[in-house]
Amino acid sequence: MTKLKLKKKVYIIGLILFLLILVGAYFGNKIYQDYKYKQTYEYKFIEHGYTLEEAKSLVQFYQKESQLENILALEKNSYILELIKEKYYIDNNLSRYLDYKEKNEETTTKDVVAIVNVNGDYKYYEHDIPTDTSLNFLINVNKYYTLPEDFEPIDIEDISIRYSYEGNRISKEANDAYVSMWNAANTAGYTLIVNSSYRDYQEQVDVYNSKKASLGEKEADKIAARPGHSEHQTALSIDVFEMNNQSTLTFKDSPAYTWLKENAYLYGFIERYPAQKEYLTGYSAEAWHWRYVGEDVAKIIHDEDITFDEYYAYYIENQA
Ligand SMILES: [Zn+2]
Repeated sequence: MTKLKLKKKVYIIGLILFLLILVGAYFGNKIYQDYKYKQTYEYKFIEHGYTLEEAKSLVQFYQKESQLENILALEKNSYILELIKEKYYIDNNLSRYLDYKEKNEETTTKDVVAIVNVNGDYKYYEHDIPTDTSLNFLINVNKYYTLPEDFEPIDIEDISIRYSYEGNRISKEANDAYVSMWNAANTAGYTLIVNSSYRDYQEQVDVYNSKKASLGEKEADKIAARPGHSEHQTALSIDVFEMNNQSTLTFKDSPAYTWLKENAYLYGFIERYPAQKEYLTGYSAEAWHWRYVGEDVAKIIHDEDITFDEYYAYYIENQA
């Protein structure tokens, strides 16, 4: 062999080796990328039965690995994709949303989220939760959240008889806010009057028992709270009417009520039991029952058109 021929042979072998390495690197990389992709949640969701688009949405929505694992642990359910589009979706409630929807197919997704968030998937008075009394103006009391019998409201004081019937008491901050609201309403031509406010546990026992005696338990539960479940025990609620209309039947049609609906939030008060929201609040509409929550929270509740129960679930409990 001549030197030249040998050189040529080495050169060809070198070239072949080089090409082999190139091809090997290409396929090796492909296998590696494949392997890597199979570790992703996008791939796992597709394997679990979701479409590529659904898998991408789930990965985008759920930021934590624990949440992604949680979805994988559930049976494939495309309804999850509908739920996560809802503004007030709470991850901890996911399996309850799915259960509720299965039993109530006609309910809209917005309502499924709202109902479960306010514990509406449980029966009234069968799912008692001791309420967090450290929340001051944001204490939640309803047919699920209870106050202890010996609950002491903060800074309770008399409402002046200029603005109220005699014997009404609420917390000082709520009282000051009510006086400001009363003055604004007065300027607008309405004379507000409080006819009920703070009631302690024992008074609520009497109220509830007398309703129960005359109407029976079922009807009594629609209009009166059981003891420990009355918002009046917080000293943050007032039943307000207008001098010219003090009827629980027609106050809702009065201009004073319209004024309150449009303006009360500016003073930190919210309508606690609005019409058409009975399925969320647990109470028939009470145009006269206003609850002090402070101006900032009242504005959110007013602007987003939600009940206090929904606010509490999403903005307080969920974000605690
Ligand atoms: Zn009331």
